[in-house]
Amino acid sequence: MTSRTLVHRDPGGQSALYETDLRYTGLLEGRHGERFREYRRLWRERSEGGDPGDFPLSLDLATSSGCQLSCVMCPLPRRPGGRRRRLMDIALFRSLMDEARERLLPAVTFGLGSEPLLDRRIPALVAAAAAAGVMDIRLGTNGQALTPEISLALADAGLTRLEVSLDAAGPEGYAAARPGGDWGLLARNVEGFLAVRAKKGLVTPLLRLSFLRLPANAGELPAFLSTWAPRADMISIQSPVWFPESLLPAPPPAPPGPVACRQPWQRLGVLEDGTLWPCCSWHGEGLLGGPDALGGAAAAWASPAMTGLRRALASDAPPARCSLCASAGKAAEALPEGGL
Ligand code: SF4
Repeated sequence: MTSRTLVHRDPGGQSALYETDLRYTGLLEGRHGERFREYRRLWRERSEGGDPGDFPLSLDLATSSGCQLSCVMCPLPRRPGGRRRRLMDIALFRSLMDEARERLLPAVTFGLGSEPLLDRRIPALVAAAAAAGVMDIRLGTNGQALTPEISLALADAGLTRLEVSLDAAGPEGYAAARPGGDWGLLARNVEGFLAVRAKKGLVTPLLRLSFLRLPANAGELPAFLSTWAPRADMISIQSPVWFPESLLPAPPPAPPGPVACRQPWQRLGVLEDGTLWPCCSWHGEGLLGGPDALGGAAAAWASPAMTGLRRALASDAPPARCSLCASAGKAAEALPEGGL
């Protein structure tokens, strides 16, 4: 019998991840043994604000900017030029992968604040991350460009986790949450991915499907769980984080006091132009000020801006953007506890 176990819960209750039959943990432990267990141990340790080490555990990359949709929760479509596609210089990407190899980087995520399948180089970039020895290679997408050919290329390249945002159980909720997207195309693409993976007899990429709880799709979560959860290896249920340019109602003012986020101990984000984020949130934009990725990820990780941000986050006076981020992403309603 299939079981779905809660394996991760964001400290603010913004997201919850459920794993089917512990497939991700079992698969990567089976492939990498002690190296994978150590990676997860470090992730937990850094979640508590422990030693950040000398390198991130995950590099989160926007190898291209832009997106083709106009989702209500995202700031991108309402920024001048926000949807435009600009590519990361391949020399920057290669230098990041050189550091990944040297530092035994455990994880890479493609799709930071952008739609990664707009970058046609993406299967080759995934293959380069695999060749650099990265264990956990993830790609988060809206799924609109996930053709069977791309699915096959990503599987062949060594992607371990494909994360597709559904945020609906049918066309009505989808059109309200993700204007510009085509629900029918998305559903066909997800089914096409599963068919390609089955035909090749592959286990990976594992499939994570996510549902962002919005006023626009209220009531569709039960249908999402009954229809889509059985097809997925992982399910993520999230509450939206408010951004000034999103079309969501503004949250109440952020309460004073500490913020529980420890992403700057775990992740480093790099945009296509080399701009650095200390996390995977748009609220992290600008928090690192000066440093950029051209000096290298290790230098950025140890920079005064990054160490100062960690110190501020662990204090009673975190940056205002972090207070806003934490309160704007707090689940209005409790996310399901235990299994699903
Ligand atoms: S903006 Fe601050 S609180 Fe939000 S994810 Fe980034 S570091 Fe964490």
